[in-house]
Amino acid sequence: MRHTLSRREFLGASAQSAAALAMLSPAGRATPLQRRSPPRRVIVLGAGLSGLVAAYELTQAGHDVTILEARLRPGGRVCTLRNLLSDNLYAEAGAIYIHDNHTHTLRYVRQFNLPLDETPLRNFQSVYYLRGRRVRFSPNAAIRWHLDLTAEEQRLGQPGMWQKYIGSALEEIGDPRAPDWSPEPLRRYDQMTMAEFLRSRGASEGAIALLRAGYLDLWGESIESYSALSLLRDQALLRGSRRSYTLRGGNDQLPKAFAERLSEKIRYGAEAVQIERTEQGVRVHYQRAGHRDAVTGDRLICALPFPLLARIAVTPPFSQTKARAIAELPITSVTRVYLQTRQRFWEAEGLTPSANTDLPIMWTHDVSFNQPGVRGVMESYMTGASARQTAAMRESERLAFTLEHMEKVFPGARAHFEGGISHSWDQDEYARGGYIWFKPGQMTALWQHLARPEGRVHFAGDHVSSQPGWMNGALESGLRAAREVNESEG
Ligand SMILES: Cc1cc2nc3c(=O)[nH]c(=O)nc-3n(C[C@H](O)[C@H](O)[C@H](O)COP(=O)(O)OP(=O)(O)OC[C@H]3O[C@@H](n4cnc5c(N)ncnc54)[C@H](O)[C@@H]3O)c2cc1C
Repeated sequence: MRHTLSRREFLGASAQSAAALAMLSPAGRATPLQRRSPPRRVIVLGAGLSGLVAAYELTQAGHDVTILEARLRPGGRVCTLRNLLSDNLYAEAGAIYIHDNHTHTLRYVRQFNLPLDETPLRNFQSVYYLRGRRVRFSPNAAIRWHLDLTAEEQRLGQPGMWQKYIGSALEEIGDPRAPDWSPEPLRRYDQMTMAEFLRSRGASEGAIALLRAGYLDLWGESIESYSALSLLRDQALLRGSRRSYTLRGGNDQLPKAFAERLSEKIRYGAEAVQIERTEQGVRVHYQRAGHRDAVTGDRLICALPFPLLARIAVTPPFSQTKARAIAELPITSVTRVYLQTRQRFWEAEGLTPSANTDLPIMWTHDVSFNQPGVRGVMESYMTGASARQTAAMRESERLAFTLEHMEKVFPGARAHFEGGISHSWDQDEYARGGYIWFKPGQMTALWQHLARPEGRVHFAGDHVSSQPGWMNGALESGLRAAREVNESEG
């Protein structure tokens, strides 16, 4: 946990951390693929990070790659919203954080020489707003929570409760990146929701209300919905991470850096609609500018989230288990609303506008922390039912609704508000949601079938990696799919 930094301290720390990062243990260059056979014609569906890294490494190895991307830009769910706010302020609609143990992401950040700023840690919040009360939070201070906590929980405080109920279980999870890692021995955690898991470890309802607010509720349909094992795996992979970063100037620089190097290989505006599989190869039919066209290859990498792959006709169909995984994995609804303020008024109170709440605005944070100027941008990050409720509103209603709740958490928001923007990932035609989640039982039932190739078709995407919901997972999966293709026979 970190203490609050003023913005000035923070920018100073960012410069130091960039220097420190350069000295971190070498993530190095990815071990280049060594091609041992004639070049393959490879089709990649999707120019998100997983498809881009696969295409990039295969191209470096001398394969002949064609990428089909439905949008006119690369990056998929890495998307920086530009030219919509004043004074060149920007906001991330998708990925924000890069942790110091995200070796794949950091490797390419370094390879492309992109600038990093350190971010306030995700779990550092300056305010909690629970059950109608606003509480200033400081990790080391004794806080009166107005929740029904046991005497021990009261003494432990939020960080201590987190460690007691969640941190202490992570040793058991092992290293989910290890090639032989399996959820099977942890089946009992997959059978329960996260809320059931916390209860089974003795957490009171007050402790659950505190831990879920703005954090554990951000996956799936809240803490009552998703497999405890999915969250524990995620946390096990963050173990040991002390710092996180973001790209100064916007995270879309990372996919753009790949795309610049692959430019003539990407067919933009090309929406895949059908996959034909034969013994000898694959043929993908796509729509572009109202016309139907097709491309043929030896191998195909599907680097699309499963809910989008489900809309593509496949002949002959994939195996039953793969088809089941594609059809059944749910995706978290996410809506993000960004409020621009004429000043960073929260600084006067010595705060950052980061809060965990049980209000519909859920989690709030400072978008402008590393951006110059006097204006600020505070964001509300909503998932599940709140995300859908807000997504159903018109833009002006989304802003008014968010502002009304933001004012409760950060008084002064209304007086300083100038306008805002929003993004619904459910309404994004080529995402259809934020990131996949696992219902109880789904990790053990589907795990083996997620990444497994189907003949000449390989699968990439954060959803088929050890780290769903992270760029690092997307890159890991793309590298794995590229290796499979490179080592394939024919
Ligand atoms: C709200 C949100 C917050 C996040 N926060 C973080 C974070 O803080 N840190 C972090 O590391 N990660 C974060 N992530 C996750 C990260 O953005 C993803 O893990 C990563 O970008 C996924 O890359 P991908 O290649 O697997 O999929 P995508 O980026 O979804 O790429 C798939 C591509 O396929 C294209 N496509 C779709 N359908 C078709 C079709 N029929 N034909 C052709 N192309 C098609 C899409 O346009 C898209 O470009 C966040 C994601 C979201 C949504």
